[in-house]
Amino acid sequence: MPPFEYAPAPESRAVVDIASSYGLFIGGEFVAATGGTPFKTVNPATEEVLAEVSEASADDVDAAVRAARTAYTRVWSRMSGADRGKYLYRIARIIQERARELAVLETLDNGKPIKESRDVDVPLAAAHFFYHAGWADKLGYASLGADPRPLGVVGQVIPWNFPLLMLAWKVAPALACGNTVVLKPAETTPLTALLFAEICRQAELPPGVVNIVTGAGATGQAIVDHPGIDKLAFTGSTAVGKMIARSIAGTRKKATLELGGKGANIVFDDAPLDQAVEGIVTGIFFNQGHVCCAGSRLLVQENVADEVVRRLKRRLGTLRVGDPMDKNTDVGAINSKAQLDRIAALTEAGEAEGAQRWDSGCELPTAGYWFRPTVFTDVAQSHRIAQEEIFGPVVSVLTFRTPGEAVAKANNTPYGLSAGVWTEKGSRILWMADQLRAGVVWANTFNKFDPTSPFGGYKESGYGREGGRHGLEAYVKTGSEQ
Ligand code: NAP
Ligand code: MG
Repeated sequence: MPPFEYAPAPESRAVVDIASSYGLFIGGEFVAATGGTPFKTVNPATEEVLAEVSEASADDVDAAVRAARTAYTRVWSRMSGADRGKYLYRIARIIQERARELAVLETLDNGKPIKESRDVDVPLAAAHFFYHAGWADKLGYASLGADPRPLGVVGQVIPWNFPLLMLAWKVAPALACGNTVVLKPAETTPLTALLFAEICRQAELPPGVVNIVTGAGATGQAIVDHPGIDKLAFTGSTAVGKMIARSIAGTRKKATLELGGKGANIVFDDAPLDQAVEGIVTGIFFNQGHVCCAGSRLLVQENVADEVVRRLKRRLGTLRVGDPMDKNTDVGAINSKAQLDRIAALTEAGEAEGAQRWDSGCELPTAGYWFRPTVFTDVAQSHRIAQEEIFGPVVSVLTFRTPGEAVAKANNTPYGLSAGVWTEKGSRILWMADQLRAGVVWANTFNKFDPTSPFGGYKESGYGREGGRHGLEAYVKTGSEQ
């Protein structure tokens, strides 16, 4: 228990206007959907309905792709990079100006703590637009190949864990490189994408450059299957990523897939242990563990394992779990009932397979979807909780004796998205980073993101990179490429 009670510090909900219902954003206008069944998006912390959202049918997706094609051929691909950059700077500044509104809306629709949407999601979304605005007129100097040119119309499908930030990762590089987009946000978190549509209008972005179609898997599939799409950018589960790869096999569509992960956070006995414990908390309890690159497998050197686990449990007892709109909250709500059920099923499998389960025992609100910060010890590599992505506030602890064993265990997963190394030896950090089959390796820190740094996976974590100069490669063709 914390030594004293915190007074409530609620963020105001009054800073956002949520409409009772939303249309689709096609050709610069909000239009009614044709035929689909509208659905409701809820606040997962209270189960309150926030708004009714349209389901885009295949016909609506077709209209969006046509609008994107027209905008591409008539306006966006002809505009100079410097002019495209001006629109991106404008969008970046509006995101900053409307940051509080975006953060509150994200927290209401997603359930993440307001301090995270305010300090991480929204500032990073703005940073992605600023960063790519700078590239728009310099693509010829980015070592992408001779004569970099846009691909055309890009279909983008994103998940619910970082709704606005994933939109920014997708939209900013696509537009900077001269492409137009049709984007589908996740079914449970469409609201910040719809506010972003309004921001595109405010920035006077030419109609059709950004189109936003809401819906569930079928709408995403309609984007994937549409013959007018030149490239697909997908972030989501490995299962859906594989389906997409199958659907587009044999077509000319290019794709980048950012999929799941089972990141290893590796703590050596010479690491500063309290700092490592903070890194473990950031690694797996940030955003309720709904993070593809979460440090969900904690690998601790055997001689300090008991001590690290003892300190970790003590620290988890001080995490404040509850109302995401409270500025003191550390861990918010699980995004949906379906995700809560998945977490519960996997943690039950962990117990059934013989791992030791511990949770922080904190009180949970009565309404909404919640899960206590949970630690599993006595975990074997074969356990499902060591192999499968739980995507929740649950860490599985394994031990190792030598650096070689740490590498072998860390790499023993079908995924390869992220890893963390905690040690005071620089040479060991470099050696480990070289051995780990992971797209990102953090050293003495975890879950740090920056638009200048490429992000992406090995193996079943997907292919292609987002961010940095490498991220631009996915949005251009070069040389004699048609
Ligand atoms: P998901 O089920 O794969 O959904 C991702 C997106 O794809 C959603 O917009 C979803 O729509 C849509 N979709 C579902 N079925 C589809 C289909 N057949 N064709 C086209 N689109 C389809 O994943 P999720 O459960 O929402 O997200 C969690 C997963 O994303 C985790 O595995 C996580 O690791 C991964 N992730 C990866 C990264 C990364 O950068 N590597 C980042 C964040 C998350 P609806 O949700 O509306 O049904
Ligand atoms: Mg929601």
